[in-house]
Amino acid sequence: MTQASSPQAPRRVALFPGSFDPFTIGHDSLVRRGLPMFDHIVIGVGLNESKRSLLPPAQRVQVIANLYADEPRVSVVGYDGLTVDFAHSIGARFILRGLRSVKDFEYERDIAAMNHHLGDIETILLFTEPQYAAISSSVVRELIAFGKDVSEFLPHK
Ligand code: ADP
Repeated sequence: MTQASSPQAPRRVALFPGSFDPFTIGHDSLVRRGLPMFDHIVIGVGLNESKRSLLPPAQRVQVIANLYADEPRVSVVGYDGLTVDFAHSIGARFILRGLRSVKDFEYERDIAAMNHHLGDIETILLFTEPQYAAISSSVVRELIAFGKDVSEFLPHK
């Protein structure tokens, strides 16, 4: 049987950028829900964050990479500079982000518009699963600062 020759479909690569300080079950849920939509997801850990950090970025990359060690369609990379420039450098035409609230919406809308303007990048927003709506890295950091066990908010292999 001869196979009809068709041009190779371009790989759909999405960049999931963030500080991930730390990477929570809310972030993990977005990656896993994004996988059916894309051929590959690159989790981009922002290195030039001015925010107070729990773990140094290189260590964050390590922890997240370990989590997806058995998922060849997910890779984890630290980056600095502009997110659109990094997206282009890895061949990503999409940015994946999450929405928990109206507050997230306004922030994400502005960044998405700028990334589209600057780099012709489409942002794909997924609503949070309701059970994760209250989980944020900043709340987890605060709980850690007060000595609370946060393991229920962190993904485990
Ligand atoms: P940034 O510092 O760039 O906002 P974060 O690491 O805080 O990065 O978050 C990365 C992305 O993940 C953001 O789009 C954020 O809205 C989304 N996100 C964070 N926590 C959750 C959650 N619990 N449910 C859904 N999306 C989330």
